Amino acid sequence: MNRDKIIILGSGSSVGVPRIDGYWGRANKNDLKNNRTRCSIYIKYKSLNILIDTSPDIRSQLLKNKITKIDNVIYTHDHADQTHGINELRPFFWKNKKKINVYTNKSTAKTLYKSFAYLFIKKSKFYNPILKMNIIKNKFFIRKNKNKFFFEPIIVSHGDTNANGYIFKKIAYISDCSFISKKEIKKLYNLNILIIDCLKFKKHKTHLNYYEAIKYIKILKPKKTILTNLHSDIDYKKLKNKLTKLTNNIVPAYDGMKIKI
Ligand SMILES: [Zn+2]
Repeated sequence: MNRDKIIILGSGSSVGVPRIDGYWGRANKNDLKNNRTRCSIYIKYKSLNILIDTSPDIRSQLLKNKITKIDNVIYTHDHADQTHGINELRPFFWKNKKKINVYTNKSTAKTLYKSFAYLFIKKSKFYNPILKMNIIKNKFFIRKNKNKFFFEPIIVSHGDTNANGYIFKKIAYISDCSFISKKEIKKLYNLNILIIDCLKFKKHKTHLNYYEAIKYIKILKPKKTILTNLHSDIDYKKLKNKLTKLTNNIVPAYDGMKIKI
């Protein structure tokens, strides 16, 4: 599929499935769709190659999906499972021969500067900074040649912090979320695709659970919904069967899932 598309690079919760110690929880280890790396998506639109978040699994995610070009990175928030793959972007700086543009809000920018200062500021005469920070608050666009791609950030609660979701081409990506305010809800009507946090069945302090995600889907009525950030409590097939009984337009995400833009 060489057309404009999104690839779900990672659909798993912060420790992935299986966990580093081999724990699969309730997920059937024989089903490849339960093998989940940390949340991230890749957007290909004409000549633009955009990543949302750089998970600790980014190297294997890009290799597996044969993604050889990245020129822009957008961050949802500053948690380790969204940001700690940032150092792996170096080869794209070498290939592009220019700094990679990073787009995020002020507080995530602050953490990135603090934790990965060497990637933004010259710290050594032997290593060049590879990233250029762009702090965004409202709608923004990413341009390459004549191609422009517009994003609208939305602010959602994520436990005791906030995360950005992003709306583009009538698609919304909200990977980490525990609550959406009425003000932000208004921006999410008439979507073609909603990709939203659905950590587990039990209630969780920093993420939407299954029942909360369904509640938002019923309010927003997107044409199609993809549930992501799935914990080891959730088995792909069991969740898919449960959703099929409810409707045919909500599906669980899996690593490598491709969506036409
Ligand atoms: Zn998070």
